[in-house]
Amino acid sequence: TNGLMKGRRGLVMGVANDHSIAWGIAKSLHDQGAELAFTYQGEAFGRRVKPLAETVGSKLVLPCDVENVATVDETFAAIAKQWGTIDFVVHAIAFSDKAELKGKYADTSRDNFVRTMIISCFSFTEIARKAAALMPNGGSLVTLTYGGSVRVMPNYNVMGVAKAALESSVRYLAADYGPQGVRVNAISAGPMRTLAGAGIGDARAMFNFQKRHSPLRRTVTLDEVGGAALYLLSPLSGGVTGEIHYVDSGYNIISTPRPEDLKR
Ligand code: NAD
Repeated sequence: TNGLMKGRRGLVMGVANDHSIAWGIAKSLHDQGAELAFTYQGEAFGRRVKPLAETVGSKLVLPCDVENVATVDETFAAIAKQWGTIDFVVHAIAFSDKAELKGKYADTSRDNFVRTMIISCFSFTEIARKAAALMPNGGSLVTLTYGGSVRVMPNYNVMGVAKAALESSVRYLAADYGPQGVRVNAISAGPMRTLAGAGIGDARAMFNFQKRHSPLRRTVTLDEVGGAALYLLSPLSGGVTGEIHYVDSGYNIISTPRPEDLKR
């Protein structure tokens, strides 16, 4: 550690367990001296998150379900009370009905479309607004997205549409909050073996395909996504905002694999 994040305080939202992308990010931030608060969705997750938060010395571990705006308000009220200001927020939250993360996108229901958009897209906008209010001296916000936003991935369906809206909202929020020195970026991670990742139809096949056909011939690690988040949340990326930063072994640059690679 060289203390890149020393003296900086931030909120990490979206840890479910030690495989969560948010947890990989939290560890990278903690290693560089950041002070962290966490939120968890409901008490079942709370039982997993509290001991993890303890290992990185966190004293603020709060329940927050983004479908319930009162808990979002309470989260930021608690942070305002404890810390006064905040330097960064990590938003690693998404949800869609598993039954619609397979088959045709065209079959998406109205209810699940709305719910997916609220949890996976709107929550970031709402959180950005509340966080920016606690960032009088600037700050940095990072959310997590996936390349199914810009290219069709089998089964990703409504989540791809929500991620496209999320990425667009990153650009609008970057423009809104740039004048106050608040930067807003997204990490577009390659497929990872997490709870959310496992909800997508044929997850294992997609994971293996991307492993075989990405330039680096592998998938990415929690530490690598953590490193990218550290960059985006620290002064190292001071001139960067509104960006969608791919951490995907380069998979997104490939159009069609070489025919010989398809046979490997
Ligand atoms: P995960 O299951 O560990 O994390 C998802 C988190 O979302 C959980 O902590 C869950 O509690 C939270 N969540 C869902 N609904 C919520 C709600 N209503 N209120 C509050 N929290 C809620 O899985 P993950 O893969 O670490 O997902 C984190 C983010 O990374 C998501 O945005 C996901 O879309 C994105 N992402 C994942 C992958 C992947 O392959 N796993 C790739 C790219 C992007």
